[in-house]
Amino acid sequence: MADFDYDVLVIGAGPGGYVAAIRAAQLGLKTACAESRETLGGTCLNVGCIPSKALLHASELYDEAANGALAKLGVKIDKMSLDLPTLQGQRVDAVKGLTGGVEFLFKKNKVTWLKGLASFTGANTVEVNGEKVTAKNIVIATGSSVAPLPGVAVDNAGRKIVDSTGALELDKVPDHLVVVGGGVIGLELGSVWKRLGAKVTVVEYLDQILPGMDGEVRKEANKIFKKQGFEYKLGTKVTGAEVGKKGVTLTVEPAAGGEAEKIEADVVLVSIGRRPNTEGLGLDKIGLELNARGQIETDHDFGTKVPGVWAIGDVIPGPMLAHKAEDEGIAVAENIAGLTGIVNHDVIPSVVYTKPEIAGVGLTEEVAKERGAIKVGKFPMLANSRAKTNHEPDGFVKIIADAETDKVLGVWIIATVAGTMIAQAAQAMEFGASSEDIAYTCHAHPTHSEAIKEAAMAVRGKPIHM
Ligand SMILES: Cc1cc2nc3c(=O)[nH]c(=O)nc-3n(C[C@H](O)[C@H](O)[C@H](O)COP(=O)(O)OP(=O)(O)OC[C@H]3O[C@@H](n4cnc5c(N)ncnc54)[C@H](O)[C@@H]3O)c2cc1C
Repeated sequence: MADFDYDVLVIGAGPGGYVAAIRAAQLGLKTACAESRETLGGTCLNVGCIPSKALLHASELYDEAANGALAKLGVKIDKMSLDLPTLQGQRVDAVKGLTGGVEFLFKKNKVTWLKGLASFTGANTVEVNGEKVTAKNIVIATGSSVAPLPGVAVDNAGRKIVDSTGALELDKVPDHLVVVGGGVIGLELGSVWKRLGAKVTVVEYLDQILPGMDGEVRKEANKIFKKQGFEYKLGTKVTGAEVGKKGVTLTVEPAAGGEAEKIEADVVLVSIGRRPNTEGLGLDKIGLELNARGQIETDHDFGTKVPGVWAIGDVIPGPMLAHKAEDEGIAVAENIAGLTGIVNHDVIPSVVYTKPEIAGVGLTEEVAKERGAIKVGKFPMLANSRAKTNHEPDGFVKIIADAETDKVLGVWIIATVAGTMIAQAAQAMEFGASSEDIAYTCHAHPTHSEAIKEAAMAVRGKPIHM
C-alpha cells in the first residue's frame, strides 16, 4: 500500500473543515488542514456568524438605551452616546479570541496547519505553497464567497458599495444604507446599522423577504421590521450603480418590468447570496465536475465520485449554515475512520438573529401541505407570560404536524430568543416526536419555551392561555 504524509488532509478551516480535522485527529488519524487565511475559523469566525453577532448584540443594547426601552423599565441613562470605535473593537476582540481558540484546539489535537492555498495535483496529492503533500483521504471544505451582482461592483475599501465583510467594518454610521437582498445576512446587518441610526431600505427581487422560510413567518417578519422603521422595495431589481463623491446612485426597476427609478444611498450593501469556492482547487486534475449550481455533489457519506476525496459544508448542496457544516465535518471524519457518520438534512434549524429572532426547522406549511394532510397549532408570544413581562410581544410559535400520525413536520418561531428555543424543536423532531409528546413535556415557567408547549397543545385545539 502507498505511503501518505497524512491519513486525512482537510482543505479549508471553516466550521466544516476545522471540526472535521479535530474529529479525525481525535479518532487517531494523522491529520493536516490547509487554510489560506491568516487565521483559522473560516467565513463564520472571521467575517460571518461571530463578528455579525458581536455587532448585533452591542447594537441591540445601544438601541434599547437610545429608543427609550430601558427608560420604560426604570433604567435611565442621562448622557448616552455611541462610541463606534469601541463597539467595533469588541467585534475584533471576539473574532481574535475565537479564531485563536481554534488554533489552540489544533495544537491540542495535533492537527497540522498547512498555511496557504491548496490545489489538487492528483486524487491523493495537493500542492500548498509550492509543496506537495499526500493524503489517503482529502476533504474539500473550501466554503463559499459573496455572490457578485452584475453592474454593482463591490469595493469594501471605498466603503460605498460593500459586501457583508465591508458592512461589518464601516467606521461611520451611514445616513442611508440600501441593502440589496432581503435574506438573512442583509436583514441582520441592516438591523445593526438601523439600530445605530441609519435609515435602511431593503431592495428585494422577490415579492417577500426571507426566501425559503414559512410564508406566514415571512409576512409577519416583514410587518415587524416595517414597524421598526425598515423601508422596503419588494419585487424590485437593481440594474446599476453609480458611485459619486457623497454616495451611490442606484438604479432599480420593477422585477416584472416597468419604469426605472433612482435611489440615493450613502452605502449600498450587496447581499444577494453566496457561491461555492472551487476556483483554483484544480478539480479538473482529479476529474471532479461541479453541478449546475457550482457545487460538489456527494453521496450520503460525503464521498465524492473520486475515491478518497470527500466534501462538506457550503461547497456542497444544502443550506449554507455553520452548524450544518460542523455536523458534516464530524460525520465525514467518522466515515473516514470506518464509523457511521450521519447528518439528518431534514432537521437543520435556521435562525435569523434580528430582534425578534426568527427560527425554523423542518418543513414550511406550504411544503408540508403539498405532501399531505396537516394540522397546525399556533401560539402568540403576546400570551406568553415571560415575553409579556419582558415587553417582547412580537411573534408566535407555529407547529406543523401530520394530520394522521401527529408527527411534527416543522416548527417556526418568531420570538426574542427563537434561536435558542428552536433547539428543543429540532431535538424533538430528531427523536420523531408527535405534537402530543411536546404538549405533555413539562416546560419550566416562566420561559419563552412554554409557547412551544402551548402551540403543540393548539395542534390538538387545546392551548391553556388563549
Ligand atoms: C455575514 C455572515 C453571517 C453569517 N451568519 C451565520 C450564522 O449566524 N449562523 C450560521 O449558521 N451561518 C452563518 N453564516 C454562514 C456561515 O458562515 C457558513 O455557512 C459557514 O462558514 C460555512 O462553513 P464552511 O466550513 O463550509 O466554509 P467557510 O467558513 O467558508 O470556510 C472555508 C475556508 O476555506 C478556505 N479556503 C478556500 N479555498 C481554499 C484553498 N484552496 N486552500 C486553502 N484554504 C481554502 C477559506 O479561506 C475559508 O477560510 C454567515 C455568513 C456570513 C457571510
